[in-house]
Amino acid sequence: MSLLSDFDPDISHAIKGEMDRENFTLEMIASENFVSPQVLEALGSVMTNKYAEGYPNKRYYGGCKYVDIAEQLAIDRAKEIFGAEHANVQPHSGSQANMAVYHAVCQPGDTILGMNLSHGGHLTHGAPVNFSGYTYKVVQYGLNKETERIDYDEVEKLAKEHRPKMIVVGASAYPRVIDAKRFREIADEVGAKIMTDIAHPAGLVAAKLYPSPVPYSDFVTTTTHKTLRGPRGGMILCKEEYAKDVNKKIFPGIQGGPLMHVIAAKAVAFKEALLPDFVEYQKQVIKNAQCLGEFLKERNFKIISGGTDTHLILVDLTNKDITGKQAEEALDLAGITVNKNTVPFETRSPFVTSGIRIGTPALTTRGMKEDAMKQIGEMMVGVLEHLEDPAYIEKTRKQVRELCEQYPFHMELSNK
Ligand code: PLP
Repeated sequence: MSLLSDFDPDISHAIKGEMDRENFTLEMIASENFVSPQVLEALGSVMTNKYAEGYPNKRYYGGCKYVDIAEQLAIDRAKEIFGAEHANVQPHSGSQANMAVYHAVCQPGDTILGMNLSHGGHLTHGAPVNFSGYTYKVVQYGLNKETERIDYDEVEKLAKEHRPKMIVVGASAYPRVIDAKRFREIADEVGAKIMTDIAHPAGLVAAKLYPSPVPYSDFVTTTTHKTLRGPRGGMILCKEEYAKDVNKKIFPGIQGGPLMHVIAAKAVAFKEALLPDFVEYQKQVIKNAQCLGEFLKERNFKIISGGTDTHLILVDLTNKDITGKQAEEALDLAGITVNKNTVPFETRSPFVTSGIRIGTPALTTRGMKEDAMKQIGEMMVGVLEHLEDPAYIEKTRKQVRELCEQYPFHMELSNK
């Protein structure tokens, strides 16, 4: 029996349940992934004990010799991966990375131009319920109705009309490569700064399978836990001229002590991202998403923008007369985890939606390739065609488990 199961069986039981869920169901949330055992080891280490306000070699506390080693390695590796002049690895989350950049560039009431949430943007890109929406004057751009890709002409028109202080580039549910150069040209026309949020494609950028926005952006923000496959957290990359200001806006601006165990785990994940295996992994992530997208298209499902260049696909279920909520719930019962998602020009509420977002990073981490994607596509189509048939869903749940058992992982942990 472990120390935890002995002392707190309730929490131990919940953790074991989550481990089984990850092992025996299909995790297809596009923003999730499974970290390696070595990342988990760093995350569960004694570095959680240490206060280290400040930055390496400039701390407000004694005893920082070892956490300094971890943070400096994380910084150096991040700069190497992305070819960035400066990296701040302290943001506790992607949202806090974005908030610090807003604070570095904008004053309350300034105008920002970001992507509409219902077209794929993130809450922190100007949604009314988020700090970005109620602190700044927000102008939103979206997709072209025909191509279902970003309408760059509209972005340019809005930029010229509203002259934003900052343009926010990036998305949470956009399957295509974003043209960073075009955004730079638009920003230069109106004297705006650019923050590009690569939370979703960061791993693909690291593997050089998605064009890097670093040369075209004043600031690049990311989470570290999606395609990048590190611990839950955020990071800011920027040009040297903004380094001091960005650091100040994180600490003491909006955060106190950095989470040193998370920073150590970020350093480990970044070491993994520098290995050749990581490029092979990311190639397979994209191949898997493309394979699943094509499979669903052949079965008459509408894929937004007709396909994907990345790790995610967005399915519009309108022609199937199913809501995103119904699809998410039925697939969940069958052991297939996706999330309901608004589609461009959505007519339903965000709690219901007309679509689902599907991602391949976690499945690819456990070794699945195209043949597994086709089996999964078949199971998904079956469930969506038998929403009201519990016996069919139960049968699929068993098939899901059998497939998962062919791709075991976390075994070394679950046996402890
Ligand atoms: N930016 C984008 C594009 C995201 O998709 C997300 C999270 O999904 C975030 C920022 C925020 O990250 P976090 O949940 O770590 O605050």
